[in-house]
Amino acid sequence: MTIAPPLHWTARPRCAPSRLPPADVQPRQFKPYTRHTIHTAPQWQGLPEALREATQVVSRVLPLRTNAHVLDELIDWQRVPDDPIYRLTFPHADMLAAEDYRRLRDLVLVRRDDAAIEREVRRLRLAMNPHPGGQMSHNVPLLDGNPLAGVQHKYHDTVLFFPTAGQTCHAYCSYCFRWAQFIGDRTQRFGAADTSALVRYLQLHREVSDVLVTGGDPLVMGAQALATCLEPLLVPELSHVQNIRIGTKALAYWPQRFLFDADADALLRLFGRITAAGRHLALMVHFSHPVELRHPLTQQAVRRLANTGLTMRLQAPLVRHVNDDAAVWVELWNEAVRLGMVPYYLFIERDTGAHDYFCVPLARACDLFSAAYRSVSGLARTVRGPVMSTFEGKVVIDGVVTLGPERVFALQLLRARNPDWVRRPFYARFDPHATWFDELLPAFDAPHFFFQRVDDAHRRAPMIPITPVRHGPSDGGSTAPACP
Ligand code: SF4
Repeated sequence: MTIAPPLHWTARPRCAPSRLPPADVQPRQFKPYTRHTIHTAPQWQGLPEALREATQVVSRVLPLRTNAHVLDELIDWQRVPDDPIYRLTFPHADMLAAEDYRRLRDLVLVRRDDAAIEREVRRLRLAMNPHPGGQMSHNVPLLDGNPLAGVQHKYHDTVLFFPTAGQTCHAYCSYCFRWAQFIGDRTQRFGAADTSALVRYLQLHREVSDVLVTGGDPLVMGAQALATCLEPLLVPELSHVQNIRIGTKALAYWPQRFLFDADADALLRLFGRITAAGRHLALMVHFSHPVELRHPLTQQAVRRLANTGLTMRLQAPLVRHVNDDAAVWVELWNEAVRLGMVPYYLFIERDTGAHDYFCVPLARACDLFSAAYRSVSGLARTVRGPVMSTFEGKVVIDGVVTLGPERVFALQLLRARNPDWVRRPFYARFDPHATWFDELLPAFDAPHFFFQRVDDAHRRAPMIPITPVRHGPSDGGSTAPACP
């Protein structure tokens, strides 16, 4: 299972600890697998026929991308299909409705009609809410009266930046809410080729303290390309940009990125330059299950990264089949704290893609979060949850309570389009089956939640301009937008 790597043992960054791998782990080159190549993976022939078939059929709709590290190091093939990382990274038949699966299976495996497959796949994708939370229509800011490609500005202090070169990942999570970025449909993607327009926008918006570089996973980019994106943010004119965040799952899916890749040292030196410039660099690290965090290369990479002066905040959604067990979160948060990370968010799986397959009822999510929270020390109680990233903002469920005659969910907004909405308690009727915010009704027979009336006014005079989606050439294909 070992592939000879091009190792670079010299030129160790001043801040980096040893890059020698643990004795039982061999460095290797990155080897991806997609729908077109997964049959070449050594594990493929050992999979039962039904699982191979489901992979072939469902990966037409929801993209498949994995790599040798995930297959060889993270999946326990004795436990397939119930292994959490297999559930996390491979498509499954019941991600589609039974009738949809039968129809697509027939087209893919029997009729092999490419035009009909394409039509059916498009129909299924459009029914999967490819852009939840108003991403394509309501978060795109204006510059010189035009939509800004590859940028979202939903909360007044935080801007999201999507570098075009970072719109893929080392492997795909089958629950990903950004799956539309990966399907090769230019009308469903967004990204910016460089930061020049972003820099101009930030010069005009001194209220922005945080830039979140996201994707996909920006750490698929080479160190030089990433430096070209990030270093323009370090100029004195942008001193109001105090926090640079990078959303990534590379620590789980390809820890070699920080250890043995040819530009691993250059990447760490870039991180060191950002922190030396006085900016707070935060990796928003995505870990779905402790098995990812237990891997010795991941732990070695975490220690190396910490020496650059950055911080790591751990977040993930709660998803059925993968991590819907309080003990899983206890281990995840405890291990994160031991390694020096900050537990940050437990999200509710978003209303997109194979939501029905992964969703956990809100009531159960509350119980599970509370059970896990009660079991960890104060250092891990930095975590917030369960949280829904909704159109209005990040809604946290504080709990289920009985007020007067009514059983209700107690809720508040941690982040909101309108900052005045933040931390105002509000209540929704208890519904044991609800899995997303849209399914909740206001408690006490109220006609709407408090912000919904305000939101109507907000839509008429938005703080952050609401723009229609337009497509143009500025990002090399699309101006349209798409880890926790
Ligand atoms: S959840 Fe994050 S790491 Fe997983 S596929 Fe989506 S963007 Fe990539």
